[in-house]
Amino acid sequence: MKILVTGGTGLVGSAIHNLSILYSNYEFIFSGSKDCNLINYDETLQYFIKYKPDYVIHLAGNVGGLFKNMNHKVEMFEDNILINLNVIKAAYHIQVKKLISCLSTCIFPDKIVYPINEEILHNGPPHTSNDAYAYAKRMLEIQTNAYNHQYGTNFITIIPTNVYGPHDNFNILDGHIIPALIHKCHIAKNTNTVFNIAGTGKPLRQFIYSEDLAKLIMWCLELYNEKTPIILSNDEKDEISIGEVANIIANEFDYRDNLKFDETKSDGQFKKTANNSKLRLLNPNFEFIDIKDGLKKTIEWFKLNYDLCRK
Ligand code: NAP
Ligand code: GDP
Repeated sequence: MKILVTGGTGLVGSAIHNLSILYSNYEFIFSGSKDCNLINYDETLQYFIKYKPDYVIHLAGNVGGLFKNMNHKVEMFEDNILINLNVIKAAYHIQVKKLISCLSTCIFPDKIVYPINEEILHNGPPHTSNDAYAYAKRMLEIQTNAYNHQYGTNFITIIPTNVYGPHDNFNILDGHIIPALIHKCHIAKNTNTVFNIAGTGKPLRQFIYSEDLAKLIMWCLELYNEKTPIILSNDEKDEISIGEVANIIANEFDYRDNLKFDETKSDGQFKKTANNSKLRLLNPNFEFIDIKDGLKKTIEWFKLNYDLCRK
């Protein structure tokens, strides 16, 4: 059985790559944009026909943190709409047995009663900071349902919370909070300057380590047999403030005394508290790595791979 992982060179794709050694019953194909530009339908279709995977784990996308979403709304909308449109059409064309595509807890309505759950994705506008990305991603869910409804396909969507880990994009302007702060703290320590954190530090997030998400995606592939979306997140009690994350990172770098919160910068959505009871019901024994341990591993990886990592 062949599994094609689109976005196979990214944060989540690399974590599945590392895990794939445990799944010798499958042949994995990990594709990045150099292997196939998924924005182009003809190229996508030819690629899918060439490899004819049985399963597709679709992770590719134009992805980034709050400031990339605010500053590149056109690309965040157009690239993601096109990539998702093409992947689903091509997956249908070659009749894949199962397609898993990735949504995100950050595409949910902003003004909503928390916690969010799988039922309320479309019940209100997303936060304005990432509306272009969020609406493009929401269409992925609509298109997935449409294919299942009209053609009886086995396409599902998963909803991870904020992901972090090795192979992330550590770019200070475009990256998500954790890789951006790791990179900033590294520079601040080396130059003995201020470790600058955007916003008030008060917003709350749940974070999942990429290796945990990779395990859960493989679980979904093999054992999640519903067609409705599923939130892949740790528990509500694991929600943590941006300020706390910044302090853990500063501690890991042994650079505690020079933090500054720049309140002129956006806080983005205040919180996206996600309820994982569907996951807990079906997979009750899953153990998430503690954020302190995950950050330690990520920072070690960043230091070891500083020259070559995305930044
Ligand atoms: P990532 O590290 O930025 O990786 C993106 C991947 O997509 C890379 O492999 C990239 O290939 C590929 N890609 C981008 N444009 C492409 C194109 N035109 N054609 C083909 N491939 C293309 O992203 P990630 O963080 O692993 O995210 C994976 C999935 O999880 C995404 O669907 C994202 O929306 C979702 N998600 C992420 C987070 C998070 O916090 N990171 C949270 C929730 C959900 P190259 O390496 O060649 O550029
Ligand atoms: P989000 O979770 O989808 O909003 O995206 P991010 O992963 O980019 O996290 C954004 C949150 O982290 C906001 O509250 C920001 O104000 C805060 N933050 C603090 N410093 C940074 C930084 O350097 N980069 C990013 N992306 N966010 C930061």
